[in-house]
Amino acid sequence: MQTAQAALKQGIALHLSGGYHHAFYNEGSGFCLFNDLVVAAKTLLTQEVDKILIIDLDVHQGDGSAAMLADDPRIISCSIHCEKNFPYYKQQSDWDVGVAKDCSDNDYLQTVQQSVQTLINWHQPDLVLYDAGVDIHQRDELGLLSISTAALYQRDLLVLQCCVDNAIPVAAVIGGGYQRNVDALVQLHLQLFKAAFTLYGSHFASKIET
Ligand SMILES: [Zn+2]
Repeated sequence: MQTAQAALKQGIALHLSGGYHHAFYNEGSGFCLFNDLVVAAKTLLTQEVDKILIIDLDVHQGDGSAAMLADDPRIISCSIHCEKNFPYYKQQSDWDVGVAKDCSDNDYLQTVQQSVQTLINWHQPDLVLYDAGVDIHQRDELGLLSISTAALYQRDLLVLQCCVDNAIPVAAVIGGGYQRNVDALVQLHLQLFKAAFTLYGSHFASKIET
């Protein structure tokens, strides 16, 4: 909630955790107890915004979000995930793309670009909630995709760029990432922060000075 509210105030906000997209109304699932994305979106709708787009690029489908939002046209759920991976029973998001295990960096980035662009054009949301899961990475132990670190950075950059170009505030959470080598994992989550700094760095530098 705080991350989303900060995004509405200043254009972007990043959370060092978050993205518990497998949690349903009545049960937890896949390491997720409460669905922070859905709770934040539903709470904000009663306050200050009319339409929210959840862009979920974690390697696993956002099944809990999809199920919880099935009857709510004001919150658009988008999940781009590995088709042959957990959860084995997929829910229906407003926009689902199941990518193949052997998907190349270029194909993956193109899919993300087209999906994000299309959804933003169609829905013109007041806020984007972005789940930047890094379990799409080639070294991830649960991901099954083979996306490079460079493409991970490009993915985060293009999602944030799309929000900037359309003047839509974006709140991002780090989502999933599974490696026993924590230092290597941190480097992957860092790509989101690098991408954000590339786009918003001068904006924040001026804020810090004042
Ligand atoms: Zn995941």
